[in-house]
This record gives sequence, C-alpha cells and structure tokens, in this order.
Amino acid sequence: MLLRSLTRFSSNASTSLFFRRFPRSYFSRSSPATGRNIRRLSAAGTGSELFLRRGLRLLPAAASGCLSGQFSRAVSTQTAPSYPGQDEAEKLGFEKSREEFISECKSKAVLFRHKKTGCEVMSVSNDDENKVFGVVFRTPPKDSTGIPHILEHSVLCGSRKYPLKEPFVELLKGSLYTFLNAFTYPDRTCYPVASTNTKDFYNLVDVYLDAVFFPKCVDDVDTFQQEGWHYELNHPSEDISYKGVVFNEMKGVYSQPDNILGRITQQALCPENTYGVDSGGDPKDIPKLTFDKFKEFHRQYYHPSNARIWFYGDDDPVHRLKVLSEYLDMFDASPARDSSKVEPQKLFSGPRRIVEKYPAGGDGDLKKKHMVCLNWLLSEKPLDLQTQLALGFLDHLMLGTPASPLRKILLESGLGEALVNSGVEDELLQPQFSVGLKGVSDDKVQKVEELIMSTLRKLADEGFDTDAVEASMNTIEFSMRENNTGSSPRGLSLMLQSIGKWIYDMDPFEPLKYEEPLKTLKARIAEEGSKAVFSPLIEKFILNNPHCVTIEMQPDPEKASQEEVEEKNILQKVKASMTDEELAELARATEELRLKQETPDSPEALKCVPSLNLSDIPKKPTYVPTEVGDVNGVKVLRHDLFTNDILYTEVVFDMGALRHELLPLVPLFCQSLLEMGTQDMSFVQLNQLIGRKTGGITVYPFTSSVWGSDVPCSKIIVRGKSMVGRAEDLFNLMNCVLQEVRFTDKQRFKQFISQSRARMENRLRGSGQGIAAARMDAMLNAAGWMSEQMNGLSYIEFLHTLEQKVDQDWEGISSSLEEIRTSLLSKNGCIVNMTADGKSLTSTEKFVGKFLDSLPEKPSGGQVTWDARVPLRNEAIVIPTQVNYVGKAANIYSSGYKLDGSSYVISKHIGNTWLWDRVRVSGGAYGGFCDFDSHSGVFSFLSYRDPNLLKTLDIYDGTGDFLRGLDVDEDTLTKAVIGTIGDVDSYQLPDAKGYSSLLRHLLNVTDEERQIRREEILSTSLKDFKEFAEAVDSVRDKGVAVAVASQEDIDAANKERSDFFEVKKAL
Ligand SMILES: [Zn+2]
Repeated sequence: MLLRSLTRFSSNASTSLFFRRFPRSYFSRSSPATGRNIRRLSAAGTGSELFLRRGLRLLPAAASGCLSGQFSRAVSTQTAPSYPGQDEAEKLGFEKSREEFISECKSKAVLFRHKKTGCEVMSVSNDDENKVFGVVFRTPPKDSTGIPHILEHSVLCGSRKYPLKEPFVELLKGSLYTFLNAFTYPDRTCYPVASTNTKDFYNLVDVYLDAVFFPKCVDDVDTFQQEGWHYELNHPSEDISYKGVVFNEMKGVYSQPDNILGRITQQALCPENTYGVDSGGDPKDIPKLTFDKFKEFHRQYYHPSNARIWFYGDDDPVHRLKVLSEYLDMFDASPARDSSKVEPQKLFSGPRRIVEKYPAGGDGDLKKKHMVCLNWLLSEKPLDLQTQLALGFLDHLMLGTPASPLRKILLESGLGEALVNSGVEDELLQPQFSVGLKGVSDDKVQKVEELIMSTLRKLADEGFDTDAVEASMNTIEFSMRENNTGSSPRGLSLMLQSIGKWIYDMDPFEPLKYEEPLKTLKARIAEEGSKAVFSPLIEKFILNNPHCVTIEMQPDPEKASQEEVEEKNILQKVKASMTDEELAELARATEELRLKQETPDSPEALKCVPSLNLSDIPKKPTYVPTEVGDVNGVKVLRHDLFTNDILYTEVVFDMGALRHELLPLVPLFCQSLLEMGTQDMSFVQLNQLIGRKTGGITVYPFTSSVWGSDVPCSKIIVRGKSMVGRAEDLFNLMNCVLQEVRFTDKQRFKQFISQSRARMENRLRGSGQGIAAARMDAMLNAAGWMSEQMNGLSYIEFLHTLEQKVDQDWEGISSSLEEIRTSLLSKNGCIVNMTADGKSLTSTEKFVGKFLDSLPEKPSGGQVTWDARVPLRNEAIVIPTQVNYVGKAANIYSSGYKLDGSSYVISKHIGNTWLWDRVRVSGGAYGGFCDFDSHSGVFSFLSYRDPNLLKTLDIYDGTGDFLRGLDVDEDTLTKAVIGTIGDVDSYQLPDAKGYSSLLRHLLNVTDEERQIRREEILSTSLKDFKEFAEAVDSVRDKGVAVAVASQEDIDAANKERSDFFEVKKAL
C-alpha cells in the first residue's frame, strides 16, 4: 500500500510454536502491495529464508515501514480492564467455560459460551494496544466451485446496517486499522481486524459482524456475479467471456507451478474428505456454481452456532460481550456445528503415485523442468502438543536452514534446482509432511525419490549433530522470546494458532502454552539424547507410514493454450445455444452490471460507515528516539527502546566504489557470505554457530532514489540480532561473515544460481507486477536501474548467462566476489544502527568499537557514478499465464510536479476508488494499484492477475479526467486523510522502529520534513485533487508501459495498436 513497505527483516514473523507456514489460504485483497520499498528491499537477503519459509507470511495490508513517517500510534491510556464476573456475563447471555492466565503471552484468557446459540468466544486481555478481533466459521466445501472463497469476498460487499457496495473498501479508505483482510482456508474462513485506536477498533468490529451475519450478497445476485463469475458479452456480435474477481484470482493461482503442486498434494493426500477439493475454486469448476448453492452455504455455515470469535488486547472485556450479544441474541441455535465437522481421512494401506502436467513456457530445456515431491499424511488422529512440538523441531532440524541435512543433501545432489513444497504442515486436521525438488531432469526423477528416502533413513539411523540440535533449539527459543510478528499484530498470530486446534473442537488454550512442553522436550533431549527423541518420529511418521503419495509434475508447453481453447469452446457452445433475444439480453445485463459497478455510492449511504474525526488524529508524528554519535570515526545511530533484552543492529556499507559490471553479482555475493564457510569452518559449522549464538544474520542490498538528489542511495545492509548478553558473539560473527568467508566453493555457488533462478521465475509468474514495476523504474531512474539489475528481468537474464559461465570461468567469478568485498568493506561511509534499551546500548558499545577497528579505512577502487538506465520503451514480457500484470509509469517531478503531502492522500484515493472500481470490480482483475515514490518522483499504475491488457492501460489514462471530474464531500475527504495517516503511522514493533529510523537517515528524511508532510496530508483539499490531475496526465502522455502477459494477449495488443509493445521472452 501507499507509503508502506515490507521490511524483510521485520516480516520474520516467528510467531508461533514453530515458524508455521501460512496455510494455503486465500485473501480477500490481493496480497502483494506494490509499495515502492518492497521492490527494493526484497532483493536478495537469502539469509532470512528460514524465517520466510516458516513465518506467518501474511500481510498485504499491514506491511510496515514507511520511509516518510514511521512511528507507532499514540498509546491509549486506559485503566486496567475489569473482567466480567459470572453475573455480568450471564446477564449478557454468556456463560464462562474456562479462565486461565497464560504466561507465554502475559494474558488473561477467558472462554465464554453464548448460551442461546452455543457460539464460543475467546476473550484475551493484556496491555497490547494493537487490539485484534476475529470471527471464524468452519466452512468445509464439498466441491471445487470455490463457494467459501467467493463468499468470503462477497460478504464484505454490503450488509444490513452498511448497505454500500463495499463497506470493506470504505474501511480501507478511512480507518486506522493495523490489519484488515479476510482469508479462506481449506476448511474455515477467517475475518480478522486490528487497530490500536479503540473507537476505530469497534467501528471495524461492527462492520465485520454485520457483514458476516447479515450480508446483502445473499439477496443480490450481482455481487455473486461480480466476485464469483458471470458471462460477459459487450455486444451480441462479440464472443462471450467469463469475468469475476475470484475467477481471475484463481486463474493466477493456477498459473503457478508451485501452487498447482500444493493443491494436488492436499487433494491427493486426502481424497475422501473435504480436503479433496479446492476451497479457493478451480477456474474450471467455478462456473458451475449457482447462486442458490451459494446462498444455502451462507445460511448453513455463517451462523453463530458455527462461529468462533476472538478478542485480544487492552480494551474493556465487558464491552466485548455487550457488542457481541447484540448480534448473537438475534439467532437461535442451529445444527451447523455438527454438519460442518471435518471428517478425518483414513490412512492408506500402501503408497500411491500421481503424475500431472503443469503449464510451462515453450522456451528452455523442458526436460529439466520436472518437479517431484514426496508427501505423507502423518496421522489419522490429531497429535498431542508434545509430539507436534517435537515434529516441528524435527522439521527445523531437517530443513530449516541451508545447513540442515535434508535440505543440504538435496540441493547439493545437483538433481534439482530448488526445494519445493517442503516441510511439516500442521494447521489442518491431520498434519502432513512433504519434501521435494523442482527443476529436475526427466530421467532423474527416480533418483530424487531414492535420495529423499535414503537420506531420511540415514537421519533415522544416525541422528543429528549436537551442534545442529543446539542451534535449532536456540533459534526456536530466541524466536519465541522475541515474539516478532513483523508487521502483523501479535494478537492475530495468537488467534491463528489457537484456532488451529479450536476449530476442530479441541482446546483453544493449549496452542498458546508452549513453555512446559518445550521444557519437557528439552529435558528429554538432554537425558535421552536427540536420537532417541527424533529417530522414532522419522520411523513412525515417515519411513513406516504407508500413507505416502509421490507426485511428479511434468512441464507441458501446450497446457496453457489448451486450457484457453477448452474455455473458448465451452463459451462458444454457450453462445451457440442462446437465441438472439437472449444474447441481446446478456449484452444488456453486462452493461447494467458495469453501470452499477461504476456508479459510486451516494454520500448518504457512505455516511453510515462509522469513521473517526480529524480530531481523533494526533497532530504530530511520534518520533523514534535517535541519538547520533560516533565510534572510532564511524557514525552510530542509537535507538533507546524496550526490546525485551534483545539487541538489533544494522551495519551499512556504501556501494559507491563498486564497478557497474559487478552489480548483478551482489545478491549472490550476499548469499555467499552467509553460506560458503571460512578457512576454519565449513558453511554448516558457520551456520550452526550463528544459530547457536544469535537470532540470525542477514545481508542484502538496499537502493533508493533520494528526494532532491541525483545520486541514488545504494548500500549493503548487514542485519543481526542477539540477546544483549551475546552481543560480542554477534559482532564477532558479523565480522567473520564479512571478512573471513572464502569464495572458493564453486559447487555451492552453482546451487545459489539455480535457487535464485527458480525463485525469480516463481516471482515472475506469481508477482509479475513487481517485475513490471522494477522494469519501469529501471527506465526512469538510476536507483531503479540498480535494483532491477539485482531483482528484475535483467537479473533473470544475468543468471542465465552466469549459469553458462560458471564452469568456464569460476576463477574470474570468484575474484569478482572478492572484488565486491574489498570495494564495500571500509569504515569510510559505514554507518551502524543499534536498537535496544539504553543500558544495553551502553554495555554493547565496546563490541561495536572492536568490530569497526577491524575494518579497512578506505575501500579499494575509486568512486563510481550510478546513472545507468534501461532504454525507455513499452515492453511486454511473455510468460505462460492465464492472467496478466499491467503497468504504466512516469516521473512526475520531471513534468514539474512539486512534492506535497496531499499526493499520498490522492494516490490512495485513486487506488481505492477509480482503480478498484474499474480495474478490479468491473475489469475483473484481482487488484489494481497506484504508487507514488516520493523519493524518485515515479508515479506508477499496476494491475495484478488481470484478464485485460490495453483496456487496463486505457483506464490508467483516464485517471486525470477522473480527478478533474471528482466531487468529494467533506466526509469522503476526511476519510481519505485519516486512511493516509493510518498508513503513515503504521504500527511497528521496536526493531522495525529502529530500522525505519535508519532508512530515513539514509534517505535524508528529517523529522521536520515528516511534520511538514503530515500537515500537508491533514490539510489536503479538493483543489489538490484537481491540481494533481495534471501530474497524472503526464503519466498518460509521457509514461512508459510494461506488461507481464501471455503471448496471445500481447499479440492481440500489438495487432490492435500496431507494435505498441517491444516483446521480450522471459521463461
Ligand atoms: Zn480471494
């Protein structure tokens, strides 16, 4: 979102008992925000893969880290909440089932039962200002028409009290939410919201409660058609097509091989229960869904008797029950809770094997593009917490880090290019374990299967290294202590953990209490040895488990076009079966739906969505305490913040002396630092040492334009964290990584290349808008060019060449890596950033001094100038896909626009109104965004999983006229302003506060400037909107377009507008 960025580090959400993977669920909003800093920060940084793989990888909306203003919201000054006594709860219609103090999250948790309906409520109270509410229904589907997913989208489109087109969007516009989204799991649907502002929080709660229990969509077929599917016919002479937000969202999902594999896995492991179908919807089946079935599903499952409700935070627990009783009392008990039960899949008596095709591009050696994955359903009955904990631990030991044996052996075998779909998945009724490789040669598939089995056998026979066990234990304990959920609210991560059991009628408290079982596990490992603990698990759950499914995925260059032809055939038949009258009627209905979608809600209707007043908004940004000092001639920033005894630090080096040709090697250089080993230590030992002593170290490049300067900011950032008592180890290890690692391991380097290629290709298919955005940036400014060299299409091309070169000239590459090091490492231009409490900052300073002393004074090589660009032209990047990503951008500073805080309000408004309505709602894309990078001046439009191409560009071009014709009343304006402040003030944990303060320092964003921008935001007027139209017109007139799209759509576009796009092949 506007003004927000996803700081890689802070998304290391180590939320739970074990870095849980976020389940295969679907979001109501398209996930990848296109915030400018995502594009930059996401480069490289492979060291954090461990966390990213397991972490709670949410968070579209709530990504943290705004450069132009980052601070947490005002702390609410509430008195300690009084807890409802039995009498009080009784009066409100609830009975208290259980009450406990949970020391792990310092919370009092009470489980209530609504007597009339049986609805259960977990009410968790503590001093966390970031309050969370969620309502969860068990929604097991019986087919793959996507009912739960379409319903999840649709209930947010207007309700009894809020009869708007989309109250959800009104909340996005004008609330201070710290989280706002909805997700569909294979068997449940969650509606969570969060805010630090109590009034705002209860506004959100009320809109969500009304939405789920009294949505308009069950009486209004238009919403079903818009979010689900409908036939579109613009003119009786044209072809009929399918449209629908979920339909296109799922087409995007089904264009990604990894996703296809994940889906097939789940269905193959559980063919006989609800997991045998896709709750998200298979694009082939979605058009089979009828409105009647859709309504019936809501009636049956969206009922209090089938609901579980979660409250968390520092608000008044009595008030929670009051709000709920108003809704719940309107219902009688229903049998939904029984009919929604998820039946377990019976274990197979023997292994199975499945071979499937996936759509692949026509280029490259398809023989090397197979995927193979082994999967086990671990148990028929749910596991006890102790076993689950041990399995999570085992998972981390086998696969969690680059040094973990199963991961390492598979990657080193050279049999495939990257792991796929690997790890323990324990968020559904029955846990499963998967491990596999992609990028496998067709004749090596068998070998991969054998290697997986023999490695597991060996691990069961020989056990794990003591150092490895210690490293895993420390990593897990560290992350529990840190409880760093990144940009997502802590209360949300706890809710998702608790729901993981609660949804199956098990104990909702248990998943929150990990200390005892962890202690027991630790004691067992100490007494019996790790082998006695883990070997039986491998034997029982994997080696001797007959419920094993091997899945092989074969690339099929025809599949995408075949599917398109099949869809066309069906649609042609539909058309042929219709009379002229029916066709005319369909064209009329299409037009009517579009008109309805494009007609804004009336101001009166909009007023019903509760919103804050400007007086609720703090006038000043809250500042991150920052003290700028000097240690041995190097600038040191210190942030005195409570961090629960953890030290967070960043060491920043300048890329000012790096030769241009070496730039694309930088991401692999960073990975090599962490994964290649030193003279005395293998990379495994180094990795384990980092795991044992610290909370992790990452290294990655950072580039950005700087406002008012032609010189881009281009840095390498080394981030680390440890307990304060281990600060010396942390700095020693950072020093070791930077100075002692040797670039001599060609085989490992080859693995890095193929992993990076696999990752980039996945990105191209799944987040093409990021690739398009990076490409446009690379045409428009030097920082963008740099970033694209390391994380864009140019990087993909570079990796292809490098792969050829590595065998011929390893010496040359190795010395280039060495040259990168010497051109970076120096005290000159180095900055150190430290975040911890004041006492710890003082006590750790001597280690900083020692670290800096070991650095050379000056870098080797002379100062270079970064001023390159990719040639400016419209480009279309061809990939095998069913949906496109379409972008257009220009630098609006060069057309004379002067930076003003109102630009944030206006771009947000464009995204939430014009683009949402046209690109998403009537265009049928999953998402449409715009983004203004105030540092560079680049204003860009982007779409996500978009069935259109030129049409979307036309919508972008109409933005100026939209702004000129805009008539916003005071309320709408206020909402837009408050929503923008919500972005600017996004909630941050202490490490993220310290980190954003560093970024602001690097980009010369002063506190004075932040105050000025804030005042400009607060005083935004309609006049600003009209004036901004001119800036947006310059994107229309001078902008460059880049699309990531299918060959067919590109050909059609180039035919319609003669050779509009220069065509580039990428896959
Ligand atoms: Zn969705």
